[in-house]
Amino acid sequence: MADADPEPSESVAEQSLHERLSRVPDTLPVLPLKDMVVYPGMVLPLFVGRRRSLRGLEHALNAHKFIVLAAQRNSEDENPSQDELYRMCTVAECMQTVRLPDGMIRAVVEGVGRFRIEAFTDTADWYEARGTLIPEPEAAGVEIEALTRSALGLFERAVKMGRPVAPESLEMVRGLRSPGRLADLVAHFMNLSLEVKQKILETVPVDDRLTVLIQELSRELEVLEIEQKIHSRVKKELEDAQKEFYLRERMKAIQHELGERDERGSEIDDLRDQIKAAGMPEEVEGKALKEVERLERIPPASPEVVVVRTYLDWLLAMPWKVRSEEKLDIEESARILDEDHFGLKKVKERILEFLAVRQLNPGMKGPILAFMGPPGVGKTSMGKSIARATGRKFVRISLGGVRDEGEIRGHRRTYVGALPGRIIQGMRTAATKNPVFMMDEIDKIGIDFRGDPAAALLEVLDPEQNDSFSDHYLEVPFSLSEVMFILTGNLLDTMPPALRDRMEVIEFPGYIEEEKLEIARLFLIPKQLKEHGLDAELVIFSRATILALIRHYTREAGVRNLEREIAGICRKIARTVAAKGAKRVRVTPSALRTYLGQFRFRYGVAEKEDEVGVATGVGWTPVGGDILSIEVSLLKGKGALTLTGHLGEVMQESAKAALSYARARAAAFGVDTDFYRKIDVHIHIPQGQIPKDGPSAGITLATALVSALAKRPVRADVAMTGEITLRGRVLPVGGVKEKVLAAHRAGIRTMILPTENERDLDEIPEHVKRQMKFVFVERMDQVLENALRGGIPQVQVTAEQPSQFGQVH
Ligand code: ADP
Repeated sequence: MADADPEPSESVAEQSLHERLSRVPDTLPVLPLKDMVVYPGMVLPLFVGRRRSLRGLEHALNAHKFIVLAAQRNSEDENPSQDELYRMCTVAECMQTVRLPDGMIRAVVEGVGRFRIEAFTDTADWYEARGTLIPEPEAAGVEIEALTRSALGLFERAVKMGRPVAPESLEMVRGLRSPGRLADLVAHFMNLSLEVKQKILETVPVDDRLTVLIQELSRELEVLEIEQKIHSRVKKELEDAQKEFYLRERMKAIQHELGERDERGSEIDDLRDQIKAAGMPEEVEGKALKEVERLERIPPASPEVVVVRTYLDWLLAMPWKVRSEEKLDIEESARILDEDHFGLKKVKERILEFLAVRQLNPGMKGPILAFMGPPGVGKTSMGKSIARATGRKFVRISLGGVRDEGEIRGHRRTYVGALPGRIIQGMRTAATKNPVFMMDEIDKIGIDFRGDPAAALLEVLDPEQNDSFSDHYLEVPFSLSEVMFILTGNLLDTMPPALRDRMEVIEFPGYIEEEKLEIARLFLIPKQLKEHGLDAELVIFSRATILALIRHYTREAGVRNLEREIAGICRKIARTVAAKGAKRVRVTPSALRTYLGQFRFRYGVAEKEDEVGVATGVGWTPVGGDILSIEVSLLKGKGALTLTGHLGEVMQESAKAALSYARARAAAFGVDTDFYRKIDVHIHIPQGQIPKDGPSAGITLATALVSALAKRPVRADVAMTGEITLRGRVLPVGGVKEKVLAAHRAGIRTMILPTENERDLDEIPEHVKRQMKFVFVERMDQVLENALRGGIPQVQVTAEQPSQFGQVH
């Protein structure tokens, strides 16, 4: 059996029905129905196409025109077995048939009564069954009426809620007098499942049938109601959006009419579009759109407009989604670091290790890199190289002198002229969310009443917290989790300890003369020539020139001033070239005076005279080591000790210890043991503006003192460092590497060091070691032996000659 197009009508008049039922035979052909149940009282067309069904139908047409319409349980089944057919069916009479060109028959049938199949008979050509007609029971009474009304009411509601039923069908149902028929017909019109429809066919008692129908209708209505709710919610949302759109358009139209704010309106639309395109996290976007709404409401002349606009500009300018594609190739990184920097082997190795660990473990919340070292040693440019090697952008901020937490974290918008803090400013400059972010002068941040910037910084650097860094100005969280932070500073000692713990410190030592020469030759000069538009072929710096530059115009651990001087020369050459045209320029050592003026530093002390009462020590300062000459003067007096040159407490004590040593050993050096009663001692260390401290000048002080007392000159080409005890033992000191490099830089070729510092020489480059002589000492005598011209003074002064200490030196 096939589809049906139901056109039911209540044409079944009671008497004719009776008459017809009496004609129904016991044994009848059966037509299986797919997906439908036909009820008694319905007239509808059936399309019959299956071979067995056609044969059965033809048989019926030739005999009595009655057929049994049985729903099949599985509508997919083309050739259902007898068991696949429901036993409760409807017997129908064929009213009219039309044979269609494709062999199918369109049969208009009218259901006449319920029929229960008892047994199928053995016909091979069509389905045939024996069974009994089930008469429609009488139904009347209040209960039936109530049930009928209720069913009808539910049906009408369903129709109202959109169940598609033709108005005449509704009328027909309303006009039915038989409650059983009504139940059948309503079941037919409602979109009930096959099982439910069959159940209603099978329920013969009318009250039961109505009850089943009412249950099913109620469930159906519930579904319809929920559907409607969903529908109306969607509709409301749509309507709200339309309303808003409409109101906005109207507002624009009004403003346009008034010749007002038209530009502003489009600016505001632009802002909205930009916000939606900025890739902000949902929360931020919501906040930004709210601000736009606020902006819309503020009168255009209000100063508030600028405040809100600036804020929105900040939100829009932040790199919410922009990210550089990261490169992680260790070999390539190594190549880039080498290409940009001369030497720094250890530093490069540590950086590459750090990058390798990150590569192997990308999610790692590792330590933060910190580059420590004097100025101009390549910390910043190494940071830039890392950015280049990893494909990231590079930004740099300075923390020098930051005392206010607000400088890190921004100020609230309620303050006039408020701005985001340096971190957010840096991120805006970076314009990507994963830059290399360098923070300089980390050792120079301070704490005061405006909050602790170091604490704010900790939050910035802490991988556990920095994915939602909150700036007071921005108000919304911004993720710093993809940023690679690098801190730089000169001195580890003054760095806030909490910060120090989180860092992987890489120390940049100072450069020695040879390294500076190579850096200048290979990097600084080509770079400056290029920046000044000069042809590298035309301008030639000889090695001697570069050395002279290093020795007489700079005194530094790094190469910053050297680069500045080179830039100065290039500027002057560029001027001449611009004025007189390009020709070959050879920068000679003697030409340096023309370019840069007089020598600024006296190079080396070796050329100096050996002097009495002057010894050369080496100090350690934040800008690397430096040589210090210690001068001692003896004046007629009463044994007072004067110390000048900005000496720290420890150094003063060291001077006293040296004096006590000298007194104790005076006799051995041929000095009157009572000398201190008759003279005053003045110790001075020049370059008074630089504070000096520490015990490491001990042996130098003692040497200068003994030299002055014994009137023996100190060798000018010898420098020394070491702490002294009262009994003349020499103790080890720190910073030996920097000190040796400084001495070397100053042209000193002999250095006296405490024996225990011998192991520190491992860190000193080979060629420096080769050029210098190191004398390791344990006792002060050994120092004097090597530092004083002619060695330790012999006892030659007798008690009769005390007057020699009376003279002023
Ligand atoms: P810092 O940040 O340590 O103060 P910079 O990175 O600013 O020092 O270095 C100063 C200048 O010296 C820069 O132009 C830098 O490129 C150059 N420079 C420093 N060290 C080296 C090096 N090893 N090789 C090449 N150039 C260097």
